[in-house]
Amino acid sequence: MAKILIIEDNALNIKLFCDLLAAHGHQPQAVTDSRQALEAAREFAPDLVITDIQLPHVSGLELIRLLRADADLQAVPIMAVTAYAGQGDEDRVRGAGAQAYVSKPISVARFAATVADLLADSRAGAESPVQPG
Ligand code: MN
Repeated sequence: MAKILIIEDNALNIKLFCDLLAAHGHQPQAVTDSRQALEAAREFAPDLVITDIQLPHVSGLELIRLLRADADLQAVPIMAVTAYAGQGDEDRVRGAGAQAYVSKPISVARFAATVADLLADSRAGAESPVQPG
């Protein structure tokens, strides 16, 4: 079970993502207003963040940068989900600090596999921390 924060302004996508994640035993929480996303992330302390890129107010790219700049959230893996599939979009998303990129309309199998991979990578990193010095 993982706590997964979803930042998405489309109600149908929220339902789809939440249902999918709950079916895999996870605990999803959705935030629709990107201006509340950072505060929601600090309160929820998610194991994974899934964010839309095309959001009103604060863009997904800007949110990724804000999460990466937050001391408590900078290590949380981020999966970007976007309708754009243009060349360069994945580079921009990864350059902002996301670990994964899934294009909409999503493949349910790819979505679930990417979530599982990110959580596994994150846990492996937490179990074998690099010793300083
Ligand atoms: Mn959107």
